[in-house]
Amino acid sequence: MKAVALISGGLDSLLAVKLVEEQGVEVLPLHMVTSFTGRKDPAFVRDMERLYGLRVHRVVDLTREFLPLLLDPPHGFGKNMNPCIDCKILFLRRAKEIMEEEGASFVITGEVMGQRPMSQRSPILRLIEKETGLEGLLLRPLSARLLPPTIPEREGWVDRERLEAIQGRSRKRQLELAKKYGWDKIPSPAGGCLLTDPGYSKRLKDLLDHLPPGELPSLRDVKLLKVGRHFRLSPGVKLVVGRREGENTVVKSLATARDILLEPKGFPGPTGLLIGEEPQVELARAASLLGRYCKGLGPFTFLYRGGSVGEIQVSPLPPEEVDKWLII
Ligand code: SF4
Repeated sequence: MKAVALISGGLDSLLAVKLVEEQGVEVLPLHMVTSFTGRKDPAFVRDMERLYGLRVHRVVDLTREFLPLLLDPPHGFGKNMNPCIDCKILFLRRAKEIMEEEGASFVITGEVMGQRPMSQRSPILRLIEKETGLEGLLLRPLSARLLPPTIPEREGWVDRERLEAIQGRSRKRQLELAKKYGWDKIPSPAGGCLLTDPGYSKRLKDLLDHLPPGELPSLRDVKLLKVGRHFRLSPGVKLVVGRREGENTVVKSLATARDILLEPKGFPGPTGLLIGEEPQVELARAASLLGRYCKGLGPFTFLYRGGSVGEIQVSPLPPEEVDKWLII
C-alpha cells in the first residue's frame, strides 16, 4: 500500500507521515512550495532525512499556479493576504495528481482539528475534500479518530485505532510522539507563510492595487517584497530601500535594466531601487528619501544607473515626509 503526504517541515506533518509509515504503508512525502512559503533549498531535503529519517519524494513549486489566487481567491482571504482555503485546494489537487501518477491510494496531511482559526474546521475540511475530488481519500492521522472514518481506515489499509485524536492548539501530544520517535530537534510548528505576515501583506496589497486590472505580479516583484523598506512615490513608481549590507545585496541582485539603482558615492549606506513606469521622474525624491537612511545631516551624493548614469546630491527628507510615502 502506498500513500503520498504533504509535508511542510513542521512537526505535525512529519508526525502524520510517521504514524502511517509505522503501519507498513509506503509514504511518499511531497513538499509544496510557493514564493511565500516552503523551502526549495537542498538543505531542507537533507535535514528531513538526517533529523527525521524522512526522504522527501518531490519538492513541487506551485508559485505560478498560486499567483492568480491572490487576485480573487474564490474562498476569500484569511486575516491577511492568505487565501488559505484555495491554497490548500491547490496543493491537494496537485497531490492527487501525483498520487495517481505514483499509483498511490490516498493522501495524508498533518492537519489538526481546531488548530487554525478557519481552514481546519470540519465544514471547511469537507469542502476542501469535495473540491479536490479526494472525498474519503484524505487521511489526517493526527485527528483521524475525531473525524468520520476514511476509505483507508474502512478498508483496513490503516488501523484507525493506532491513529490519533488530537485537537486544538496544545502541542503536548505531538511532543510526546516526537519523543517516542527519538527526535531531538523538534521542528517548529509549520508556519512561515509570508502571506500571514501583516507587513508583507500590506506591501503585497499595495503591489496588487497598482497593477493594471487582471495583471499578475512578476516573480521579481514578489521577491522584492521580502526586503527593505517600500515607498509608493506615485501610482506607477515605487522605491525599495535596502538598509543593511544583506538587504543591499538582494536589492541589487533583483535590479533590471528598466529600474534605476541608487548607491551612496564614496561611503557605505543604503541602496535604493526605483521601479515602475518612468522611474526617473521620481529620482530626486528617491535620493532624498535614501538620504534619510544615511548617517549625518548631509548633503549626500548618490550614484545612479539605469537609463542614464550620473550622480545626484541631495539633503535628506524630513522624517514626517518619509512617513508620507512609506508603505511599510
Ligand atoms: S498559511 Fe500560506 S501556505 Fe498555509 S495554507 Fe495559508 S496561504 Fe497556504
